Amino acid sequence: MTTAQATSSKTGDPGMAHLGQIIAVASGKGGVGKSTVSTNLALALAAQGSAVGLVDADLYGPSVPGMLGIETGKAPTMSPAGKVIPAQAHGIKVISMGMLTDDDKPAILRGPMVSKYLRMFILEVEWGKLDYLILDLPPGTGDTQLTLAQSFPLTGAVVVSTPQDVSLKIARRGIRMMEQVKVPILGIVENMSGFTCPSCNEVTHIFHQGGGAKIAASLDVPFLGAIPLDPAIVDCGDEGRPLVIAHPDAPAAAAYRDIAAILSGRERGAAGIPTPFDWHWDDDASKPKPSAHAAHAGGAAEVPVALDRRDGRTLVLRWLDGHDQQIDVRDLRLACRCAACVDEMSGRAVLVPAIVPLNIAPTRIWSLGNYAIGVSFSDGHSSGIYTFGHLRAMVAAEVEDV
Ligand code: ADP
Repeated sequence: MTTAQATSSKTGDPGMAHLGQIIAVASGKGGVGKSTVSTNLALALAAQGSAVGLVDADLYGPSVPGMLGIETGKAPTMSPAGKVIPAQAHGIKVISMGMLTDDDKPAILRGPMVSKYLRMFILEVEWGKLDYLILDLPPGTGDTQLTLAQSFPLTGAVVVSTPQDVSLKIARRGIRMMEQVKVPILGIVENMSGFTCPSCNEVTHIFHQGGGAKIAASLDVPFLGAIPLDPAIVDCGDEGRPLVIAHPDAPAAAAYRDIAAILSGRERGAAGIPTPFDWHWDDDASKPKPSAHAAHAGGAAEVPVALDRRDGRTLVLRWLDGHDQQIDVRDLRLACRCAACVDEMSGRAVLVPAIVPLNIAPTRIWSLGNYAIGVSFSDGHSSGIYTFGHLRAMVAAEVEDV
């Protein structure tokens, strides 16, 4: 796929709006519990009342059907529109290579076939209207990750690691790769981070403690939480009833729910502007409502409490820490980091400022989770994702009021 093709199918493509937030769950190496996290996270988001789809993008070693008790090896049912009907398990919709092939025979696929299947899993499945589409990626930083990052408007990636140093180092590499292809890192999950006693539920730390939080802090990405090592998780996986369903009272089940709450913005984003919003630049009625929380000293730097239009040329942001920032809308267009504007590998600017009209203006600004906004412009460009961290880092001028 060319970059141009990839970009044309990114953010702003109305054909993908029904998929909601697309969240990739990644890990640098296998066996760290990525599929277990994806599955329990998907169920925890569904338990909050969200419509959730789960794509088992691990084409070579699909484990999600087993974890959810989904029958494998049967030809999928097709809808009248020719789309694949996903399996239903514990209230979520699921698609996996394991549902299409006999799981004893791992799929042998070359790069182009991987892309083809992933596009099919995302675009040619009868998902209906979703709030979240969770992608359980295969481990590593190969073709699959690149295809997904370049072709789909990912809200961001959750990186799973175990507490051992080696695993954390590999996670760090995974994060760097995601950053290179401009996928925002939603945060790190530390899995198997302490042992849950089966009789008293007390959690004892048997490996180093706090490694995930430290790596997150050193890379300036959020730490989403730690999931204890719990033998019940293995049994649940084998029985097709994930922990959040089978043992909702276990500390690990609570940890999955906390991570889901953070990702859906019920915790971290609670102080920010209410989402979702879809603001048509010239229409004040569609402007995002300001947060009910007042900005205050010590508040988070990257949580916006108000977004406003000072005049047709100036976007104004007020942050929870009380900082007011105004951004010229042409500067906003020039700061776009999408694959069409910045070379994905070298990070060099591809966009030539001279071709951006002086009178360019946004047409729409919409929320992407509680981490970013998408912006479409009057020059037809609509694939830019601006994380709040990126916006906050843009050179800002002080303004009096929002
Ligand atoms: P990955 O997708 O990273 O290869 P899996 O999710 O398949 O990893 O998990 C690997 C194994 O570890 C599975 O047997 C799973 O049940 C087990 N596992 C995952 N998380 C935990 C945990 N927190 N405590 C105990 N076992 C776990």
